[in-house]
Amino acid sequence: MAFELPTLPYAKDALAPTISAETLEFHYGKHHKAYVDKTNGFVADKGLEGKSLVEVIRHAKETGDKGLFNNSAQIWNHSFYWFGLTPEPKEPTGKLAELIEAKFGSKEELVKQLIAESTAHFSNGWGWLVLDGDEIKVTSLHDADTPVVYDYKPLLTIDVWEHAYYIDYRNARPGYLEAITKIIDWDFVAANLDGEGVSRADQAG
Ligand code: FE
Repeated sequence: MAFELPTLPYAKDALAPTISAETLEFHYGKHHKAYVDKTNGFVADKGLEGKSLVEVIRHAKETGDKGLFNNSAQIWNHSFYWFGLTPEPKEPTGKLAELIEAKFGSKEELVKQLIAESTAHFSNGWGWLVLDGDEIKVTSLHDADTPVVYDYKPLLTIDVWEHAYYIDYRNARPGYLEAITKIIDWDFVAANLDGEGVSRADQAG
């Protein structure tokens, strides 16, 4: 089975004006799809059919196959990014709220640090919330790099490649970050404490 673009959990115009339907048409419909198509080409050429997306990403990392790693990791990162957004955001509750309170004092402070980290990230990459042991951390990774190949659990990601915001915000990454952090699906973040949302992205490819 070739990898496929995942179905979005909302309509193309549902995140507007934060993310316009036009951005989704390009970012999801062209950029994300191109990563899927290129990965399928590599997988067929290299005889890797039958491996899961995560297996392909780890294989590429272990063998130093940069083309395969970049394209397959970008499938996973983008699926995870889309799943972490919602047109109907709610506040964090339960265990997630407790973890946020313990580390950051408030959700607002966590968001502030995520925006600061993602704004300062030089050039292409991803802002991340991850669970390291039992501590929530804010970090960022370059280019296509992904928590799939590290020991911590991904909880949420924000795409800071220019293609994520150029149509709606031009070069204003901070404006994009201020807006997008208001449509985070905290239920998805909470589900990832137990690995649930992560497995959705694993299966997306
Ligand atoms: Fe992107």
